[in-house]
Amino acid sequence: MPKNSAEVIVIGGGVMGTSTAYHLAKLGCRDVILLEKDQLASGSTGLSVGGIRQQFSSKANIRICQESVKVFERFEEEFETEIDFRQHGYLFLSTEPQDWADFQDDVALQKSLGVPVQLLSPEEIAEIAPYLYLEDVIGGTFGPADGYADPHSVDMGFAKMARRLGVEIYEGTEVTGIQVEGGRVRGVTITQDQVSAPVVVNTAGPWAAQVGRMAGVELPVQPYRRQVLVTEPFEPIPDPVPLVLDFAPSFYFRREGAGILMGMTDKDEPPSFNTNVDWDFLDQIVDKAVYRAPVLERAGLMRSWGGLYSITPDDNPVIGGHIGGVEGFYCAVGFSGHGFQQSPAVGRILAELITSGQTSFDIRPFRLERFEEGEVVGEKRVV
Ligand SMILES: Cc1cc2nc3c(=O)[nH]c(=O)nc-3n(C[C@H](O)[C@H](O)[C@H](O)COP(=O)(O)OP(=O)(O)OC[C@H]3O[C@@H](n4cnc5c(N)ncnc54)[C@H](O)[C@@H]3O)c2cc1C
Repeated sequence: MPKNSAEVIVIGGGVMGTSTAYHLAKLGCRDVILLEKDQLASGSTGLSVGGIRQQFSSKANIRICQESVKVFERFEEEFETEIDFRQHGYLFLSTEPQDWADFQDDVALQKSLGVPVQLLSPEEIAEIAPYLYLEDVIGGTFGPADGYADPHSVDMGFAKMARRLGVEIYEGTEVTGIQVEGGRVRGVTITQDQVSAPVVVNTAGPWAAQVGRMAGVELPVQPYRRQVLVTEPFEPIPDPVPLVLDFAPSFYFRREGAGILMGMTDKDEPPSFNTNVDWDFLDQIVDKAVYRAPVLERAGLMRSWGGLYSITPDDNPVIGGHIGGVEGFYCAVGFSGHGFQQSPAVGRILAELITSGQTSFDIRPFRLERFEEGEVVGEKRVV
């Protein structure tokens, strides 16, 4: 059982929660409790495909990912945990004139911020990935430092170091209420007990809106299923394979061990907590795979799963403190499919806000009020 008071309570043991808890402890705030209703990494984190890129359309997302990549590069040493970080590159393909125009703007912005990235003609794409069908491709962008890592291991690495610095982590412990009095957070309820704290952090992933409501705050975050499949060992596509992303249909694939992992967005799917595999939709993913990389016709399916994205109306997260006017209530939610890769920097940002009231990052684009104020920029490079 958790003790009955703490300086900070973090709700949720995915990468956002464990990163925040770790960074709080690193900044000297050691009286931290993390409460996880299931197991660490049992939410979106453990079902993520672990992509890490710096190719975004907005400055704020690019900067957060640049900072996060630096952490992934030194993660194994700093967190004493292997995370299988591979920088085999991200290759975006454009088949639509508007997307191609946006890609050119994005690359100019990314380069101005120091991101290693280049625009490619179809001929140059064929040199990197000769197995692709490119007749309908206008061009692409390639970020050689992009790649992927194992999200479960990253979560465990943050948790290991957080514990070492004194953070108490409780699994199988669901928060069922948040006490707010006089506009201030006072603590949380877990089954029959209460734990008091002046600061409560919502890192509840797809359940973020439910946790927000416990504090009386409406968060525009909804869960959407995303489905993934992995083939049996498949050699005809030679290593290294970049993560290939066919942007218009939101179809992607990369190597996973000896097989190929692939996924696609069902743009007609309504929000829900459904994570079952829909075999009709898997057929659509396979059709798209065989169209884009015809050699994949020979690959056999090995396994598949569904997980949840947490999506906001502008595909950007809500990050900040005193959310909804509630003193002491902090959030890092609604990452719309790019939360794993942003967790190292976002955990630091939240910890800085909690301990000093300020952060070196510009998180104005991520404030909750943007939706009411109509000052929404949004992220275009979403999958
Ligand atoms: C198929 C798929 C592919 C993805 N691919 C990528 C990718 O390539 N790159 C990328 O960056 N991101 C990707 N994502 C998104 C990424 O997984 C998420 O953005 C990230 O894991 C969010 O982490 P989190 O800690 O916010 O949420 P979660 O990992 O969902 O953690 C939230 C935790 O809160 C707990 N919780 C909820 N309510 C309560 C409560 N009341 N009390 C206690 N605990 C509670 C849950 O049990 C859960 O463990 C993908 C997601 C999916 C599903």
